[in-house]
Amino acid sequence: MSTMPNTVQEILAGIRTKQFSCLELTQHTFQKIKAQESQIQAFLYLAEEQALIQAKKADELLASSKSNQLPPLLGLPIGVKDVLNVADMPSTAGSKILNGYISPYTATSVQKLVDAGCIIIGKMNTDEFAMGSSTENSAYQTTRNPWNTDHVPGGSSGGSAAAVASDMLSIALGTDTGGSVRQPCSFCGTTGIKTTYGRVSRYGLIAYASSLDSVGVIGKSAQEITPIYQTMAGYDPMDSTSANLIVQTPESLDSLKGIKIGIPKEYFIEGIQPEVKQKVNQAIEKMAQLGAEIIPVSLPHTEYALPVYYLIAPAEASANLARFDGVRYGLRNQAATPEDLFKQTRGQGFGNEVKRRIMLGTYALSAGYYDAFYGKAQKVRQLIRQDFIDVFKSVDCIAAPVAPTTAFKIGEHTNDPLAMYLEDVFTLPANLAGVPGVAFPVGFDNQNLPVGMQLMGNYYSEHTLLSITNCYQANTNWHNASPQK
Ligand code: GLN
Repeated sequence: MSTMPNTVQEILAGIRTKQFSCLELTQHTFQKIKAQESQIQAFLYLAEEQALIQAKKADELLASSKSNQLPPLLGLPIGVKDVLNVADMPSTAGSKILNGYISPYTATSVQKLVDAGCIIIGKMNTDEFAMGSSTENSAYQTTRNPWNTDHVPGGSSGGSAAAVASDMLSIALGTDTGGSVRQPCSFCGTTGIKTTYGRVSRYGLIAYASSLDSVGVIGKSAQEITPIYQTMAGYDPMDSTSANLIVQTPESLDSLKGIKIGIPKEYFIEGIQPEVKQKVNQAIEKMAQLGAEIIPVSLPHTEYALPVYYLIAPAEASANLARFDGVRYGLRNQAATPEDLFKQTRGQGFGNEVKRRIMLGTYALSAGYYDAFYGKAQKVRQLIRQDFIDVFKSVDCIAAPVAPTTAFKIGEHTNDPLAMYLEDVFTLPANLAGVPGVAFPVGFDNQNLPVGMQLMGNYYSEHTLLSITNCYQANTNWHNASPQK
C-alpha cells in the first residue's frame, strides 16, 4: 500500500488498470489522514463511512463496465471546503451558527465531480463564512501549515491547502472571494485556481459576498487541477450568474514563445518581504528563458482595491448572513420572543470577525451612507475592472506575488484586523474585476516556507493560465517539494 500514487493522473490510471481498487485507495487515504490529522487539523468532518460505500460502488462499476463507459474521475478522493453543501453531510461554514446543520442537497460544482466519479473524503476547515486569511477565524480549530506547524496555512481555504500540502489529499476544493484559494496555496506551496466570476456555478455555495465569490480547486500542479476545474466549469440553470460559454482545454506548451506576460509595477512595492520579491522575479526570469515576452504594465487603481473590497464584501455579507436567524438553519437558542431568538442565536452563533463585518456592512448600507460608501466603492470597483480590461489588450496574463509575505505565525495578526486585511492586498483586485488567477509555488524563504506567485488572466482564460503554469512546472521542481521529504 505504501506504493500508492499521489498524483491525480497516476491515481486515475492505477484504478483503471486495476493496480489497486477504489476501496484500497480510499482506505489508504483515511490511513494517511489518521496519521497526520492530529497535527494539521485540516478536516471539520471525515466522511469515512460514506466514502467507503462510494468506493465499493465504484469498484462494482469498474467490474461491470467497459473502460470507455467509466466516469472520467472514477475513484478520485477529494476534500470539499466546508462552505460548499454536500447532501447528508454537515455544512458548518466554520461557524457555530451552523453547528448540527446537515445539508439536504449538494452544490452543483461538487455534484458534477461526484457524477464524474470523485469520492468525497471530508469537509475542510475554513475561516468562519470564509472571512479570513489564516483559518484562525474558524469557530472549530486552527489548521496548521504543514511546512511549519507554528505557522498558519493561510485562508480561508486553509484546510484544503494544508491537506494537499501534507499529501493527505491530492485535490481539495476551495473558494476565493478575495484570495482564499490563491493565498493559502502561496503559504502551503500548492497550486490553485481561482476561476472567473461566473465560470463555476455558485449554487450550493454558502454565500459570503455574492458579487465576488468563486469556486476553485487546489492540488499540487496545474496538470492535476486541470481535469477537476474542467469538470466543475460551465453553465448551471440554478445559478443565473453562471456563464453559458465553452470551457476550453489547456494546451501542452513546449515553450512560452509568443506569450506576453505583464508585470504590474503596483504589485512590486516597498514593504513586501524581500525573498517574496526575489523568488517571484526569478520565476519571471525563468518564464522569459522559456520564451515569454515580459512587458511592464500598470494597473493604476490597485491601491484602492483594499478599501473597496472591505466595503463591498462586508456589505454583501451583512445581507447574506441575515438568513441565519435561529429559525431556518442550525443553532437555535431558547428565547421568549422572536426578537430575542434572533439576538441570542446570532449573538452566540457568530464569531467576532463575522460580527465585525456585519456591523461594517450594515453601516455602509444604511440610509444616508449608502451613496457615500457602498455606491462610491462600486464606482471605484469599475475603475479597477477597467484597469484589467485595458492591460489585457496588450498582454496574455499578469504575473505578480500572491501575498506580501510568506506564512505568518499563528496568533501574529489575530489582534490586529487591519494587518490581517493587508495580507489580501494583491489578491483582492482579481475578485473585484472578476478575472481568473492561478497561484503556484516558486521557491522558499530563508525559514523554508513556500513563496507563491500568481498569474491573472482575462475573463474565461483559465485554459491559458493553466497552460502557462503547466509549462513553467514542466521546467521547474518547486511544485514537487513536500514538507515530508
Ligand atoms: N481574506 C479575505 C477576507 O477575509 C478573502 C477571503 C476569501 O477569499 N474568502 O475577506
